[in-house]
Amino acid sequence: MKKDHVRLFIPGPVEVAPEVLEAMTQPMIGHRSKEYSDLQRSATEKMRKLMYTDKMIVFATSSGTGLLETAIRNTTKKKAIVFSVGAFGNRWYNIAKKNGIPADKHEVEWGEAITPEMIDKYLSTGDYDVIALTHNETSTGVMNPVEELAEVINKYPDVVWIMDAVSSLSGAKIEVDKLGVDFCLTSSQKALAMPPGLSIASVSDKALDRAREVENRGFYFDLLRLEKYIKERDHQYPTTPTIPHMYGIDKQLDRILEEGIENRFKRHAQMAEYVRDWAKEHFDLFADERYLSDTVTCVKNTRGIDVPKLNKELRKRKMVIANGYGNLKNDTFRIAHMGETTMEDIKNLLENIEDILNF
Ligand SMILES: *Cc1c(COP(=O)(O)O)cnc(C)c1O
Repeated sequence: MKKDHVRLFIPGPVEVAPEVLEAMTQPMIGHRSKEYSDLQRSATEKMRKLMYTDKMIVFATSSGTGLLETAIRNTTKKKAIVFSVGAFGNRWYNIAKKNGIPADKHEVEWGEAITPEMIDKYLSTGDYDVIALTHNETSTGVMNPVEELAEVINKYPDVVWIMDAVSSLSGAKIEVDKLGVDFCLTSSQKALAMPPGLSIASVSDKALDRAREVENRGFYFDLLRLEKYIKERDHQYPTTPTIPHMYGIDKQLDRILEEGIENRFKRHAQMAEYVRDWAKEHFDLFADERYLSDTVTCVKNTRGIDVPKLNKELRKRKMVIANGYGNLKNDTFRIAHMGETTMEDIKNLLENIEDILNF
């Protein structure tokens, strides 16, 4: 670790374990070799455990937004309904629009979550064949109650469920197959604690069958082309994959399974609880308390502190937090508690914040 390294408590990128960074610097292998297939297959098997799925796993050379585009573009034949609880839900809707995909958006007030009633209202019209949902909204610190929502969504078997789990996967339990999520995607640089540049998704047969009926699937992110290289070429990628990330994720998944998946979720929940209690004591929480995220806490800046100034002081102490997202820039600040971060790191961070603010 570099001596002047500033520890990241922002919701991505986050700290990466030295062993993972080291694994990523191995010599390259050909991406059409058996060795590469073995690597991707190995990472696939481990990823399935983490996602509680036996479905196809895509590793894509892009950040998570690439797979947001893949998901909505490849599965929408009729019309998508995008449920937005903040900035990333809105992004998904914009992606649909920029691709010329028919889509409607239902946006709730920031800080609120999606309810089963809202979903039922839209899906019962029969107008939609895709539902897009953000699992964990990084801009507001809301985690949608997907178990409850799944019950309604599964009343509509012809609707494909695509889910953005970019900032929560591996930091909170998402039982993909039990829930019935057809396309569950994430990025490397959030709770998975890898460098940015890799995105990952599980894809159900229902999503693939839908893609077979969709004409304009794009080229780089054509789901059927991705499927072809996974199935016919035994776990390869249509174009040159980011081989360093594949070494890295294989190693990181070993570390995650070694920690124990449940232990990992518990660690995240404990850190979240600690940060929330602290936030309630000194400030307030931005999000509805029934739907708080286990990976990032959005703190309402009730004291009107100067967040950039706080961060400047924190930086001198080799740590940094995130300001609010977009319109919330000055009204909130965000503390990520995901990936490699431990309770000890969190306690240390909060003590330093208290010290700087003279609490
Ligand atoms: C960070 C984030 C994204 C965007 O991911 P990139 O990897 O930066 O493309 C999408 N959705 C959510 C919920 C995020 O937190």
